[in-house]
Amino acid sequence: MTTLTPPTSAAQSAPQSAQSAQADQTDRLEADAPEPVPFVDLGAQQREIDAEVQAGLRRVFDTTAFIGGPDVQAFEREYAAFIEVSDCVGVGNGTDALELALRAAGVEPGGEVILPANTFIATAEAVSRIGAVPVLVDVDPQFLLIDPEAALAALTARTQAIMPVHLYGQTAFVERIRPQAERAGVAVIEDAAQSQGAFRHGRMAGSLGLAAGTSFYPGKNLGAAGDAGAVMTNDPELAARVRVLGEHGSPSKYQHSTVGMNSRLDTVQAVVLRAKLARLERWNEGRRAAADRYAELLRPLADSGDVWLPAAAQGNYHVWHLYTVQLENRDAVLEALRAAGIGAGVHYPVPVHLTGAYEHLGLTRGAFPVTEAAADRLLSLPIFPHITAEQQERAVVALDRAIGRSRSRSVATP
Ligand SMILES: *Cc1c(COP(=O)(O)O)cnc(C)c1O
Repeated sequence: MTTLTPPTSAAQSAPQSAQSAQADQTDRLEADAPEPVPFVDLGAQQREIDAEVQAGLRRVFDTTAFIGGPDVQAFEREYAAFIEVSDCVGVGNGTDALELALRAAGVEPGGEVILPANTFIATAEAVSRIGAVPVLVDVDPQFLLIDPEAALAALTARTQAIMPVHLYGQTAFVERIRPQAERAGVAVIEDAAQSQGAFRHGRMAGSLGLAAGTSFYPGKNLGAAGDAGAVMTNDPELAARVRVLGEHGSPSKYQHSTVGMNSRLDTVQAVVLRAKLARLERWNEGRRAAADRYAELLRPLADSGDVWLPAAAQGNYHVWHLYTVQLENRDAVLEALRAAGIGAGVHYPVPVHLTGAYEHLGLTRGAFPVTEAAADRLLSLPIFPHITAEQQERAVVALDRAIGRSRSRSVATP
């Protein structure tokens, strides 16, 4: 084995005792202020993989195989097997993965790419960086996933790709898009950044289109220790094109067949990702148990109509990247929750077409009613694989109070 030092009790006990001293003081100051609940806490994940990662990092540094080392190839093989595709190409981040997948699928400057208005802006950015045109469509009101009918209705002679986004941890209805898209010669490229481990009718998210891009940003279900991403496909030639494009357009050293870019998966990140991939299914089960627990804890608030709960669509194995409820007075509730120490977020507060970056599309409020209404009502509660029942209970108690407070406030203001 290695000469790596495990975290020593001295190193651990110093911050711990500082923390508890602080906690004692806080207790005395605010006797009833409960402990905060973070939105995401990756600490427990890190502790589980620490020994394995340290050994792997030692291997990388000893061999100085920083780019394209054996761990990169091993991870690509393991992730391809996990997603049940023939090929996986590790790249620098999720946005690059989407751009490279689109380019390798033949998307060109001026081409149109259809994508949902309710997504993280990176989906649209990947299109814009090619010089292609993002064509936004609305989502369905129940699951907030790309509306298949709206997507197909947006097809034109210039459409080159459709990008379903597997948002919040569940798979979009790709089977209602792909047949007609294929007949029209349009590539389906999945944005699988929030869906590692999700599947639909037994088929993995990331294996349902011509190709998929995913992100291993640290907070994703499978997260690196920095930026990382990958392209998945069952088309070995498309995978080869992604590899060339991400390696300065170079099929072999100093031959440059096309203008590419630099987007590669670092060996260091591959080490971390291999360790986490081995535990991903169990961690996703932790998220699923947490989502079930929220549904139970939030039942009274849902029954009274105060909170609208998220759900898995039929046929979907949901991996709960985010737990997104909807409610009235969202901003007031969010503020109160944060003041109570509950890490909450909004995904996403500004739909793509209403951002400054996409003003040039000329779309105003009213263009996508479902996305816009959701943007005003969405609230994401803390969720991560190791969240405890007690943390969830605290979050729900705080939410209940915050809703009560926001209601009395909004009643008071005519
Ligand atoms: C995180 C994310 C991306 C982009 O990933 P980066 O690694 O941050 O570039 C793209 N799409 C969605 C839906 C995401 O959540």
